[in-house]
Amino acid sequence: MAVPFVEDWDLVQTLGEGAYGEVQLAVNRRTEEAVAVKIVDMKRAAECPENIKKEICINKMLSHENVVRFYGHRREGATQYLFLEYCRGGELFDRIEPDVGMPEAEAQRFFQQLIAGVVYLHSIGITHRDLKPENLLLDERDNLKISDFGLATVFRHNGRERLLNKMCGTLPYVAPELLRRPEFRAEPVDVWACGVVLTAMLAGELPWDQPSDSCQEYSDWKERKTYLPPWKKIDSAPLALLHKILTESPTARITIPDIQKDRWYSRPLKKDVKRARLSSGGVADSPGGFSKHIRSDTDFSPVKGALGEDKASYSTSQPEPGTGGMPWESGAGSIDQLVQGFSFSQPACPEHMLVNSQLLGTPGSSQSPWQRLVKRMTRFFTKLDADGSYRALKEVCEKMGYGWKMSCTNQVGLGLKSGLVKIKAKLSDIVSTQKVWLPGT
Ligand code: ATP
Repeated sequence: MAVPFVEDWDLVQTLGEGAYGEVQLAVNRRTEEAVAVKIVDMKRAAECPENIKKEICINKMLSHENVVRFYGHRREGATQYLFLEYCRGGELFDRIEPDVGMPEAEAQRFFQQLIAGVVYLHSIGITHRDLKPENLLLDERDNLKISDFGLATVFRHNGRERLLNKMCGTLPYVAPELLRRPEFRAEPVDVWACGVVLTAMLAGELPWDQPSDSCQEYSDWKERKTYLPPWKKIDSAPLALLHKILTESPTARITIPDIQKDRWYSRPLKKDVKRARLSSGGVADSPGGFSKHIRSDTDFSPVKGALGEDKASYSTSQPEPGTGGMPWESGAGSIDQLVQGFSFSQPACPEHMLVNSQLLGTPGSSQSPWQRLVKRMTRFFTKLDADGSYRALKEVCEKMGYGWKMSCTNQVGLGLKSGLVKIKAKLSDIVSTQKVWLPGT
């Protein structure tokens, strides 16, 4: 992808890929400031160009410690650049051990931060509509930040709430009323998604493919068969909270103020508290190990935020950069420069690449240097492009009897039948991603 050039800023790494483009890490060579740049190819988003405008508008409204900070945006031809706070810790998704989850105290802390972010969004009338571990990022101190406002919308304006009617989100995380429609309230839908995220954190698996009666796991949950996974892996206190959140009727579902009063939510947990039942029955029985893996790629919006119902419901009153008034225009810092757009440049010399690559430590600040080294050492080049590599990998997996799954663009998860070994392969086409590789790797 052609990228314009800004002096002193290097695009050093692809952080992730989405439906309409990719997210790159930009690092300032002098100050070492790091910024995530979401690059949206408007040609790929051509069916609904309004979506990206809406994502930008909503981002401009946001300012909270548990929401990814938005610095600004600029457009270059058919490409939109969104400049965002870089979340060095990567996705919450990567902190969830498949079929196991994470220690309860950690899950509680992430859940509290998630709720704090959602409280803020709802307080300004915004609903996210696609809360899931892939959209919850972590900073260098492992603080959770809600990210990706591509499906977000305004549900309350000037004190007046409107009902929603669009199907959008990710099936395993959507609330049941959204599948039944025609209209539903926004806040309980986000609350439901938080419950599914909490389940994933505590059990390492998703409870169902979708919350409909045709789904056996969902019927089992409604019949309170909590002796089944994932529920049997979850301690009684958080399970009691999950019962209140994952309540089918949105009017009977617990509200955020009551979540904040919940016994498990508000009780101090020691760091080393592990779930009691982790070792007995902690390993899920999913064949191939990935059938209920928590990454969920079924964004089924008709949509990615098609306006329809939402038109005119968000403010476009804030000026575009360059027209005055935006926070990043006040100073002369390097991020301001980046946003206003001078030029990106590739590193002038290999030392710069080395320095930049070393300061990344991404994803996962909690990764030890050894873990990071392993990550680097397991990179290798093939002569094939990403598609060719994917096909070859798939063929080998099938031959060797491994389960495999394409979990997002160019990412393949492999699992042994026992579910005990998991390998993630990320395939990159260097030419197209402009990845910078360390000398010698
Ligand atoms: P999708 O199609 O999945 O909704 P998208 O096009 O909306 O994706 P994002 O979800 O915003 O794109 O970003 C894709 C991925 O890039 C994220 O899951 C994350 O791994 C990475 N990423 C995005 N923003 C940041 C950030 N601010 N800091 C670090 N990594 C990020």
